[in-house]
Amino acid sequence: MPQLQRLVISMAQLKDQTFTLSVEQQHYLSHVLRLRVGDRFIAMNGQGQAWITQLLTDAARIIELVTVETELPISIMLMVTPPKGNGLEDVIRQATEIGVSVIQPVLSARTVLNPSPHKLERWRRIAQEAAEQSERQIVPSVCEPIALMESLQVYQAIPDTLRYLCVTRLEAPHLLSCSRSWTDQLKSVAIATGPEGGWTDAEVQAAIAASFQPVSLGTRILRAVTAPLVAATLVAAVCESRT
Ligand code: SAM
Repeated sequence: MPQLQRLVISMAQLKDQTFTLSVEQQHYLSHVLRLRVGDRFIAMNGQGQAWITQLLTDAARIIELVTVETELPISIMLMVTPPKGNGLEDVIRQATEIGVSVIQPVLSARTVLNPSPHKLERWRRIAQEAAEQSERQIVPSVCEPIALMESLQVYQAIPDTLRYLCVTRLEAPHLLSCSRSWTDQLKSVAIATGPEGGWTDAEVQAAIAASFQPVSLGTRILRAVTAPLVAATLVAAVCESRT
């Protein structure tokens, strides 16, 4: 398939094999991507489908369906305590490139940052741009931040899922060695990583009670930005080396 620029488009824009384009999308295609009428680009709906399209003036006509598979065979759900500063933006961008499906910000006892609600829109835009850039078929869901204790209940209830809590300074098996028991029935893996100050003992106990297994990512202490990316990379590598 030729290397074409990508744009996420809503299915509501589709009528008679043609996507109408918003003014912002027309501007982006012609002034940022420098496409001209007649040029081709890939329109993706962010939920698994993509089409090669041809740019008309204020619309894009479907040429053919894209069938290339770029998604991992299991979904990775990252439960991340927002690191200080703009660290969560880096996590979202890079986790999207790595292939995660869900990014769930969680607020724990030692989380320093309490993100303002308008950040959510920005985080979702970052995920969308990273998905376009890394040729994902889906745009990962970036969820509203919730309290850790609530997130444990939510993710405990998801079927065919294994749950891991990344811990430092505890005797815990490496996430890689846990992956050896994964079967083809496994649909998703939820992984929680803590803030700069780490988890409290009560949080670790609550996570274990909610069927999260404590795991190590190695003997060095990783930064709060690095740990979720290492965990996601490890899961992605395990999945892709098996297929
Ligand atoms: N002072 C904290 C402590 O000792 O736990 C350091 C926390 S670390 C900067 C932030 C988070 O990254 C931790 O809560 C943990 O979830 C994850 N993490 C960092 N290094 C890790 C490792 N080697 N194994 C497992 N998790 C790790």
